[in-house]
Amino acid sequence: MNIAEFTVDGKSKFHLSKIKTDSAGSMRSKQDAEKYLQKNILKMQELQDKFYAQDKYSVLIIIQAMDTAGKDGIVKHVMTGLNPQGTEVHSFKVPSAEELNHDYLWRAHKNLPQRGQFGIFNRSYYEELLVVRVHDLIKTQKIPDELVTSNIWEQRFRQIKDFEKYLYENGTVIMKIFLHISKEEQKKRLLERINDKSKNWKFSEADIKERGFWDQYQKCYQEVIRKTSTGKAPWYVIPADKKWFARLVISEVVVKTLEGLKLKFPSLGRSELKQLEESKRKLMEE
Ligand code: AMP
Ligand code: MG
Repeated sequence: MNIAEFTVDGKSKFHLSKIKTDSAGSMRSKQDAEKYLQKNILKMQELQDKFYAQDKYSVLIIIQAMDTAGKDGIVKHVMTGLNPQGTEVHSFKVPSAEELNHDYLWRAHKNLPQRGQFGIFNRSYYEELLVVRVHDLIKTQKIPDELVTSNIWEQRFRQIKDFEKYLYENGTVIMKIFLHISKEEQKKRLLERINDKSKNWKFSEADIKERGFWDQYQKCYQEVIRKTSTGKAPWYVIPADKKWFARLVISEVVVKTLEGLKLKFPSLGRSELKQLEESKRKLMEE
């Protein structure tokens, strides 16, 4: 699979409406896709072992999407292959009182992965250019009035781009995933949550309200993807009407990105090898 067709790296103008939501690429069936997904999960495990041992880079995977697009399912079905010792998931909710007492990147920075670790952001600081923009929540953020000008969104685009550049330059590998679903598919999934008793708990009245802002969100997503895609921190726009296809593509993005790092287990120097021999001799003499 070629992930290039899902990659947005800022080199050409991006149009969200031109991206299909129901693609399945060359996959003929769900079963086929699941077979490849399992293979990728094994590869991810091998790569993660080296990554953990090397203890140099961190990986940050950002997942953004409209409600019901399958963010939680990605964490459950794709990332479960990862070693829990080296993985941390953080969900971004409506900011708490403590969080609102800080600049908006504070809560993100606090939850960034350590070296050797994978961090998964279920939503992220990108909500600052999505929900905050759609509902004009900037007034709730305690920023001094004179600093809230019509320039505020352009400033945030720049700040986020700079933040990600800073992270990259310090060893964080960033993958930004947008799960792209159609409005029809969302309707189907919301109805399922209402009609299927075992899914009732997933239903939220708020999702219906947010659905009313569909077009505004799509517009904001397009602008986010246009303005914050770079070669070092690309967005991956993933067709997500077929969950099994989205999961496969994401596993492929993670595998390809990690393979690109050319990870190796750390090798020992001469004195360390000598030490190993010495330890072996002691054990054998016991
Ligand atoms: P869920 O992901 O369904 O648990 O919902 C989390 C909610 O928190 C979503 O409706 C997000 O839009 C909202 N949220 C996340 N970040 C922010 C933010 N910075 N400001 C306001 N709402 C946010
Ligand atoms: Mg929700």
